[in-house]
Amino acid sequence: MTAGGRAGERTGHAMERSFKKEVEALRLGDGETFRGEGILAVTKALLQAGVSYVGGYQGAPVSHLLDVMVDAEDLLADLGVHVETCTNEASAAAMLGASINYPLRGAVTWKSIVGTNVAADALSNLASPGVVGGAMIILGEDYGEGASVIQERSYAYAMKSAMWLLDPRPDLPTIVRMVEKGFELSEASHAPVMLELRIRACHVTGEFPAKDNRRAEFSGVNRLAGPPRFDYARLSHPPVTFLHEKLKVEEREPAAQKYIRAETLNEVFPGDIAEIGIVTLGGLYNGLLRALERLGLADLFGNARTPIYCLNVAYPLIPEEVRAFCASKRAVLIVEEGNPDYVEQAINTELRRADIQTRVLGKGPLPKAGEYTTDVLLAGIAAFLAEVRPAGVDVDAIAARQKAIAAKKPAAAAAVGELPVRPPSFCTGCPERPVFTALKLAQREIGATHISSDIGCHSFATLPPFSLGNSILGYGMSLASAAGVGPNMEKRTIAVMGDGGFWHNGLITGVASNLFNRGDGVLVIMQNGYTSATGLQYMPSSRVSRQGGAAGMDVESTLRAFGVKWLRKVRTYGVAKMAATLKEALRSAERGLKVIIADGECQLARQRRARAEDAEKLKRGERVVRTRYGVDDEICTGDHSCIRLSGCPSLTVKPSPDPLRTDPVAAVIESCVGCGLCGEVAHAAVLCPSFYRAEIVKNPSWYERTRHALRRRLLPIAGATKPQAAQAAA
Ligand code: SF4
Ligand code: SF4
Repeated sequence: MTAGGRAGERTGHAMERSFKKEVEALRLGDGETFRGEGILAVTKALLQAGVSYVGGYQGAPVSHLLDVMVDAEDLLADLGVHVETCTNEASAAAMLGASINYPLRGAVTWKSIVGTNVAADALSNLASPGVVGGAMIILGEDYGEGASVIQERSYAYAMKSAMWLLDPRPDLPTIVRMVEKGFELSEASHAPVMLELRIRACHVTGEFPAKDNRRAEFSGVNRLAGPPRFDYARLSHPPVTFLHEKLKVEEREPAAQKYIRAETLNEVFPGDIAEIGIVTLGGLYNGLLRALERLGLADLFGNARTPIYCLNVAYPLIPEEVRAFCASKRAVLIVEEGNPDYVEQAINTELRRADIQTRVLGKGPLPKAGEYTTDVLLAGIAAFLAEVRPAGVDVDAIAARQKAIAAKKPAAAAAVGELPVRPPSFCTGCPERPVFTALKLAQREIGATHISSDIGCHSFATLPPFSLGNSILGYGMSLASAAGVGPNMEKRTIAVMGDGGFWHNGLITGVASNLFNRGDGVLVIMQNGYTSATGLQYMPSSRVSRQGGAAGMDVESTLRAFGVKWLRKVRTYGVAKMAATLKEALRSAERGLKVIIADGECQLARQRRARAEDAEKLKRGERVVRTRYGVDDEICTGDHSCIRLSGCPSLTVKPSPDPLRTDPVAAVIESCVGCGLCGEVAHAAVLCPSFYRAEIVKNPSWYERTRHALRRRLLPIAGATKPQAAQAAA
């Protein structure tokens, strides 16, 4: 059954997932206790703060916010909250324009730094006139070891556009308070506010006393009567932008600093080693406490011996607070992850201006780049203490402790032994994998050419065994990034883009630009039906929309409407046909953009749906068929071409049953979803005929039972190999 066949059955944003439990948590009110993850706490806090509108573009680690909001449609309708699933971050940022003229609180969310880059134009033009209703951007600060984007900080955007950056300590009551106070801060200073949540803050669990959700003064259930009196100062356009620049530094920033001080948004935690202190960004507080505890400088309840100044507001800094914390200290350590060291520089400047002689250490004991994991912080704190040697602290014992902890890692690794590297890869049965198999086969014949890759699941093809792709310039940017390569290269270039990237950006930056400039090249659009990599959200060309029914847009007719003449739609699992189409596109004498729509539904979505449907059928005692592939190990030659051409995690090796052959044979393991790629590859690449297809039937019919029994008796007599017998019997 296709996704289209389920039209109307679902209204959720994220396909095949239910957020029922989360939606219930959003309904909690006064006197009840919320328990759950940080990102859900933020979602609840938005409703408690009385937002009128919410929007965003999905991305780790904040997709959950929008997914849950979309599933909470009934609740939001009662409150009059509008939810927009924006087509990209620029449209989400522009949505905050509602707060420029009207007393409407609104929040949008996306993954940073990439989403903030996309949104930058709208953010500048939002921050320039400023806001009257609280405007908040929830940033998934995807930085560090688990990140999936370039390693940069959102801090620079806050500084350049005069938006305030909240960085709450990962503790649910603090996160919730910062959301609620963030709206007040935005309104008190007429500036947008960003709230950054690192991956760990999104997933930290805890509880907080819930409050009733607040109905906004104006919303979908109590609409504004009309536009305000015309005010040119609300437009970000010269000459008023000159005034805006002055307002930012002369009025909005001082107003923000006054509010932050008055509401004590930053926190000071005392400690008995009073001659030194630590200034930390709020989001790094838990890691810092953990490191102090391991060094014997904090107890298990979070009471540290060193005084800590925790910046729940990372920008702007509050000079009076900085001076007050540092003045009585001989030295402070700045815990600020990433580069450049904005906070460290600002604190140095502030102390210099005030002629305070406290030593400021940060990047030095701590590294300039990379995530501040507990191990990094352990080493950094030990180095800081060794440098400043506070009285009453056995610095040498602490250094020895840090070294002993660090030494355990290699010892533990040695004890475990060598573990196989497990790079990220396509899911088992992914419809995108066969396209790269076809590309490899096509390249065998016509040689390699430049491949512009993109963001999305298909970027796994840049990893082994495919290792295909020469550049990645951003989400939906592959075709645009080939614009300068194509005219300078003998062979036609290939750009690969997902349907998610196509709607996010690729249609205009890539397709329209190519056609407008009478460009050339091949564009492969992976049409799997969802923005899969971010959690299977619907998009304009999904066969079902969150409102039920189709959104009415599709990639093919859009391309034709734009004027694409050379257009082919090929089923992704048809490896031979895909390879032939790629060769045709690369060799064609006809100039102009050639688009191949590689069509195949995301296997993850398909499996989630199929598993649930099969379970229901089994419960009813109905017939269920599962397709599996296998390798006849008596035929397999052991050259493993199939593995190199497929990379499916269900395809592995095992010892050969033939004692005369030492090479391991290929084997298909239990997780095979029977996508059929194995058979296609064997056929298209003319591999050995060792693959077989089997159907596993549960609740078979009487005819199938009889046939099975007969085959089991006859096949061994006919001399079939064991797998052949199993295959035929199945
Ligand atoms: S989520 Fe879907 S598109 Fe992405 S790798 Fe898995 S099957 Fe492929
Ligand atoms: S048929 Fe082959 S490629 Fe497809 S899931 Fe099974 S083992 Fe993987």
